Amino acid sequence: MNNTDKISNLAVTGVQRLVPYKAGKPIEELERELGLTRIIKLASNENPLGPGKKSLAAIQAALNALALYPDGSGFALKQALAEKYAVDISQITLGNGSNEILELVARAFLTPEFEVVFSQHAFAVYPIVTQAVGATAVIIPALDYGHDLDAMCRAVTEKTRLVFIANPNNPTGTLLSQASLEGFIGALPGTCVCVLDEAYFEFVSSADSINSIDWLKKFPNLLITRTFSKAYGLAGLRVGYGLSSPQLADILNRVRQPFNNNTLALAAAEAALADDEHLQQTITVNALGMQQLTNGFKNLGLEWIPSAGNFVLVDLKQAGQPVYEALLRKGVIVRPVGNYELPNHLRISIGTATENQLFLQALADTLANV
Ligand SMILES: *Cc1c(COP(=O)(O)O)cnc(C)c1O
Repeated sequence: MNNTDKISNLAVTGVQRLVPYKAGKPIEELERELGLTRIIKLASNENPLGPGKKSLAAIQAALNALALYPDGSGFALKQALAEKYAVDISQITLGNGSNEILELVARAFLTPEFEVVFSQHAFAVYPIVTQAVGATAVIIPALDYGHDLDAMCRAVTEKTRLVFIANPNNPTGTLLSQASLEGFIGALPGTCVCVLDEAYFEFVSSADSINSIDWLKKFPNLLITRTFSKAYGLAGLRVGYGLSSPQLADILNRVRQPFNNNTLALAAAEAALADDEHLQQTITVNALGMQQLTNGFKNLGLEWIPSAGNFVLVDLKQAGQPVYEALLRKGVIVRPVGNYELPNHLRISIGTATENQLFLQALADTLANV
């Protein structure tokens, strides 16, 4: 066989047509391409403060153990999560980022005969994990940039094995009320697993406070996913978790790799849970930064979609891609969202006050010249 095309023809059908996830541009890549030195990245919803001191100390302390395999059960981290969220250890699944949990649930529950319901403008990983296992994505048009729960409910049939909902949603930042979500999940047939992706729940203001964990008692088909990548500033270590009924967690843990979380990640995440000061500071910086950015948008005559997360979609009323590229040339990396069917928007992650200011200045300069 000398034709590489033939190898790709051997892949399962879903994978043959798969378009890989497009991540935010790494700082190092832009440095290489443009020879720039002062680059700011507001593209992947990372914590602009970095990891907390307690996590860094835990990483340092764990370095000596690197010759040994990690604790494959993640016992200490699970115990800390169980205490913090008042769940049983048997309800927790640890993942290499919450992305891995999304993949595990797809692998464990889907075959090509099943359908998966999710929303337009939903997180790009949902179509990828669905297609990779050959299942059919049923994409429901968004309502005001967010989930149309009534339409999603109507789209659920006996063929629907999974529903994905991100709350807050990425990239739009929209937030569903807890009451509407609870009603939606309650109306699902028991044959359909609901994945409630709460990657940004720590940023949701207390007025809208999230109480989805309470529902685990009554919905055995509910899987809540959360992550240490966003509010906890540990994206580089890859730790996320699922909370569910013990039966659902047992299924996910069967397909999980035995050592999917490394030693440093486990130690850092456990320490992060005990670092409330860093979390509170993160939330404060985010709230101030959101205000700063939206004030800046207002001054530029731009509109935005109100966001409950640590990022905001600004409406440029013109193609986002050229503005994105012009910002890159000024050393500012943001996220184009044309692949989310939002060609006129850019997604901006909230940075420090200095980063936000540099971005707003670069945006103003760019818009004055296009
Ligand atoms: C960032 C993000 C995730 C997961 O990130 P991990 O780093 O894999 O934990 C999951 N869902 C949404 C909606 C996200 O934005």
